Amino acid sequence: MQQANFKRKTPMKRTLFRKPIKRKKKPLSKLAKRKQNPNSKYYKKRADAAWSKVVRRVGKCEKCGRTQNLQAHHFIRRDVLHLRHVVENGICLCSHCHANDKMNSAHGSPLNFYEWLADVKPKRMAWVEAHRHEQKPLERETYAEALERLARMIECTKCVL
Ligand SMILES: [Zn+2]
Repeated sequence: MQQANFKRKTPMKRTLFRKPIKRKKKPLSKLAKRKQNPNSKYYKKRADAAWSKVVRRVGKCEKCGRTQNLQAHHFIRRDVLHLRHVVENGICLCSHCHANDKMNSAHGSPLNFYEWLADVKPKRMAWVEAHRHEQKPLERETYAEALERLARMIECTKCVL
């Protein structure tokens, strides 16, 4: 008698006990990973830029009136993260009044700077005083949220994702 030919291509044992095939997911790129995290450098950098843009909207140095080389100065240090992207915490200064002048710039001589601020812009000074020793809040806005808020202020549709 002729033997039926039902020889399997792979032997029974192997098909039954074979581990299920795990298809590897395409690994996320570094950029995609950063975009997934609302507190990543990706959003921090962009929120910084948007904050600076909003503060510099004044269009001139708020101290001397120059219109070139404008920079945004933080009254309260940038590492106080919950105030880092607060518009009231910034002032538009030219590079000279910001840091270049050793005697008369915000970074060169903070005492002189705050004396001037209290004299000329008492409301801004009051804001700084009120927030200077503020306690860190339990929760703060994420960098992505800050970026969105600031981008709306400058109506930058490219910034809002
Ligand atoms: Zn200036």
